[in-house]
Amino acid sequence: MNRIDLKQLTSGQTLDFIKKAGEKPFRAGQIRKWLFENGVSDFNKMTNLSKSLRSRLNEIATVTDLKEEISLESEDGTLKFLYRLDDGLFIESVLIPDGKRMTLCVSTQVGCKLNCRFCLTGLAGFKRDLTAGEIVDQVIKARGKADGGRVTNVVLMGMGEPLDNFKNTVQALKIMTDPDFRLVGVRKITLSTAGVAPGIDLLAQEFPKVKLAVSLNTCDDAVRDDMMPINRKYPLKTLASSLARFPLPKGRRITIEYVIISGINDSDEDAEKLKRFAFKFPSKINLIPYNECQEISYARPSRRAVERFADILISGGHSVFIRESRGSDIMAACGQLRKTAKT
Ligand code: SF4
Repeated sequence: MNRIDLKQLTSGQTLDFIKKAGEKPFRAGQIRKWLFENGVSDFNKMTNLSKSLRSRLNEIATVTDLKEEISLESEDGTLKFLYRLDDGLFIESVLIPDGKRMTLCVSTQVGCKLNCRFCLTGLAGFKRDLTAGEIVDQVIKARGKADGGRVTNVVLMGMGEPLDNFKNTVQALKIMTDPDFRLVGVRKITLSTAGVAPGIDLLAQEFPKVKLAVSLNTCDDAVRDDMMPINRKYPLKTLASSLARFPLPKGRRITIEYVIISGINDSDEDAEKLKRFAFKFPSKINLIPYNECQEISYARPSRRAVERFADILISGGHSVFIRESRGSDIMAACGQLRKTAKT
C-alpha cells in the first residue's frame, strides 16, 4: 500500500484522510500543528496522539523530512542550505535576511530541463520534480533557522523552473498559504519563470494571487534562443502576451529580472529594446550584474555600464533597481553548492 505524505496535503485533504482512517476530525488539526507549526515529522514524537493512532499513522502515512547536509553562513548573513532527499539527491535553499524581512529562495526541481546558459543548475541537467512536500519542507526547515522563527517572504527562484513542475508547485503554494497554519502570506510569495508561457496562463487560472517575476535577460529573440533555449518554444511575443494577460491587482507589477552580461545584453540598443518591451505590461525591472564563475564564460559588466543601462530605462519612465547577488562568499548562486558537494 502506498503511504500518503501528510506534508503534501492541505487542511481539507488532511481532514478527509483522517475521517477515512476512522479517526475523530480534531486529530487532523493536531497532526497539522505538529507538522507545520512545531516542525515535527516523526509520528512517534506527536505526544498528544494516542499510541494506537501513532502506530496506525506509521503504517498508512509518511512525512517528508529533508535532511540538512550542509549549511553555510555568509558575511552578509545569508544562509545557504544543502538538503538530502529520501532518494539521495540534493537540493538547495537560500535564506536572505534584509532588515525585518527574511526571504527564502526555494527549489522546485532537482536540476532543471531548461538549460539556460548562465546557470549552473541548468548545466548539471535534470533529475526529477520535487513533491509538494519537499517544496513546503524547505520553508518549515528554514523557519527553524531564521531569527524570530519566521520566513516572511518566499521566492520560487532556486533550482528548477516552477512552471515546469506546475501541479506540485501549485499544491505547495496552497499548503504554504493554508489559513490554518499559514507559513507565509500569499502576497509575500514570488514565482519566477524563465518564460513557460502556457504555465503563466495556467497560473493565472489556478493561483493568480502570487507575485510573478520573469527572468528575461534580453529582448532579442536570436540572443534569447541561445541564452535561454525555452525561447525557441515560446518566443518573446508569445511570452509578452501571456504576461500581459496575467491578472494583476491594482498597483501590482510583474518583475522583470535582467541578468546583465558584458558584451551579450548590455548595449544601449539592448536597453532601448528592454525599455519598449517593459511597456507591454505593468512592470518593474531588476538589473542583476552577472556573477562570474569558472564553468561559464560570460563576463560581469562594469558598474558604469550597468548604471548607463539603468539610466536609459529610467529615462523611459521605468522603475529600475540594481540588485547584487547575496552570499557570493558561500556559493549562494543557484546550483553552486550542490555542485561542490559532487552530487
Ligand atoms: S535559470 Fe532557472 S530555468 Fe534556467 S536553467 Fe537555471 S534553474 Fe532552470
